[in-house]
Amino acid sequence: MSKDSLDDAALKALKRHFGHESFRPLQEEIISDSLQGSDIFALLPTGGGKSLCYQLPAVILDGLTVVISPLIALMKDQVDGLEANGVPATFLNSSLNKTEAKKRYARLFAGEYRILYVAPERLMLSSFLEDLRQWNVHRFAVDEAHCISEWGHDFRPEYRQLSNLRSLFPDLPFLALTATATDRVQTDILNQLRLKNPKTYVASFNRPNLTYRVETKQAVFQQILRYTQNRPFDSGIIYCHSRKATESLADRLRQSGIEALPYHAGMTPLKRIENQESFIRDETKVICATIAFGMGIDKPDVRYVIHQDLPKNVEGYYQETGRAGRDGLPSDCILFFSPGDVAKQLQFISEKRNRKERDVASEQLRQMVHYSESSECRRKTLLAYFSEEWPHGNCGNCDNCQYPKKTIDGTIPAQKFMSCIFRVQQASGFSVGINHIVDVLLGSQNEKVLKWGHNRLSTYNIGQEYKRADWQAFGRELVREGYIEQNPENHSVLELTSKGRLALKDRTPICLTQPVSIDKSQTHSRYSQTGAIDCDESLFATLRAVRKELADEHGVPPYIVFSDVSLREMARDFPTDEAQLSEISGVGLKKLERYGENFLSAITEYLDANPDTGIEALENTALPE
Ligand code: ADP
Ligand code: ZN
Repeated sequence: MSKDSLDDAALKALKRHFGHESFRPLQEEIISDSLQGSDIFALLPTGGGKSLCYQLPAVILDGLTVVISPLIALMKDQVDGLEANGVPATFLNSSLNKTEAKKRYARLFAGEYRILYVAPERLMLSSFLEDLRQWNVHRFAVDEAHCISEWGHDFRPEYRQLSNLRSLFPDLPFLALTATATDRVQTDILNQLRLKNPKTYVASFNRPNLTYRVETKQAVFQQILRYTQNRPFDSGIIYCHSRKATESLADRLRQSGIEALPYHAGMTPLKRIENQESFIRDETKVICATIAFGMGIDKPDVRYVIHQDLPKNVEGYYQETGRAGRDGLPSDCILFFSPGDVAKQLQFISEKRNRKERDVASEQLRQMVHYSESSECRRKTLLAYFSEEWPHGNCGNCDNCQYPKKTIDGTIPAQKFMSCIFRVQQASGFSVGINHIVDVLLGSQNEKVLKWGHNRLSTYNIGQEYKRADWQAFGRELVREGYIEQNPENHSVLELTSKGRLALKDRTPICLTQPVSIDKSQTHSRYSQTGAIDCDESLFATLRAVRKELADEHGVPPYIVFSDVSLREMARDFPTDEAQLSEISGVGLKKLERYGENFLSAITEYLDANPDTGIEALENTALPE
């Protein structure tokens, strides 16, 4: 086939098998190259649609595509999704009993599948390699390819054996896919897999449909409760710093009427799977988890990811928030920030024995605090972390762009703060932490202040015009701006830098962020709704119920039946026959055949019961201008 007719076939197959009208960024290029037989390295963010890059060529070309994947749980999910779309696919891993595995082998020998998922450890068994030669394999896809690199955060020794695969199958195209790769990991992947003149594709890491917000952590349970109560039909993940915290948060939410379950590595495997399944099947809306949760989750309709506690680094934060909104619908990423969390982590870091580890951890923490406290676009800060520039100015979809922080002439408070550091040091000959400085500024009578005689300093009790939290924020801002240094090696005590000493002496004007007290959670509806699909919400609810019933009947998660995008489009366009229904995104031939009738009759019934709805939609189709 020529390149053009292959590309044409790709677009047709996209609708026919997957029900999608168009490609996501870079999918088309990757698929086109793959159809031409090139080796490919593709770096796409979570939700970028990596699976389609090998699934679509697999349905167009004859033969078997072998997908190497590290996660057993995801294999089943992917195969369920493919089967729902009528693509013959299977997986082989340790979860299958002998009879089942035998059945699958027989069908592989009969050439009945297009896609086979395997774990790397099985792939390299010599008997398996023999079998592969008889299965008309026409390409390999290596999913989560960063697992091959020791420099990555998720190194799996089994992946290392994949480097032999190329010599065993020198003529077959390889496709390596990942959502995480620093330059070093990327080079490692190319070398290890010995990709031949690979076409490299790197998509933007921007996730336009995600809204980023940082909120001051005050009464965090109430803040979370209010948020979840406002969105009873949405699935969300709440990350907590400890196992105990996940349990107690889930308990308290349940006591307040929110279906929530915990998830952490200390639970029995059985309980963990049970809770995860319940979340995936839309029976539990909220999962309170440690960062152990997420890798094995493909749920596309997670509408929010909340971090109750400060994450340890920006990379982790980006990956965790990335689990929201894979389907492209608007979703929230909220971080609750408190200086207390920073102090706790500093303490924790200072207890690390290894100096190198300590340095890395404090640098990572510094970047995380910068993300949390900076008044710059959150998107811009996140992307910069991955060396990607954000050229568009105001993103309209983060708190800092939507509600820019005001600045004030902070010369006087800055002078007070810095001279207090200076006076303490001068009087006592040692330095103190941020809280002690604030105590002195606010005229506290606490034990340390009195014991050290800091109530006699000229800077004692000169800060009544601001609240404690404001002074702490000023202090941290002065650290960020380089006027003050915080020494993590020594209980995070504060010292003036030379820039600070100079500013103190010269009374240099200093800008500071105006303290805020507005509760941003009240105002979140004004964020951009990038990717939003307005629809009849009550029909959407009806369709969700239909979906859940069908999903249970077929033993699959609801999103395998149809995504929220499909249901929302149905509740917007009110399709009443098969032709109209097949126009809906996500409705391919197989799903039309399998589920079409159920949804069509639900929509028709709804329109009959609510004769006024849908008139507008009917008018739009019946009366073209
Ligand atoms: P990744 O593995 O990169 O995180 P997935 O392959 O899981 O992404 O795809 C994420 C979601 O996007 C899935 O629900 C998938 O059905 C959907 N998707 C992928 N490609 C398209 C497309 N071209 N149009 C619409 N939806 C798509
Ligand atoms: Zn922004």
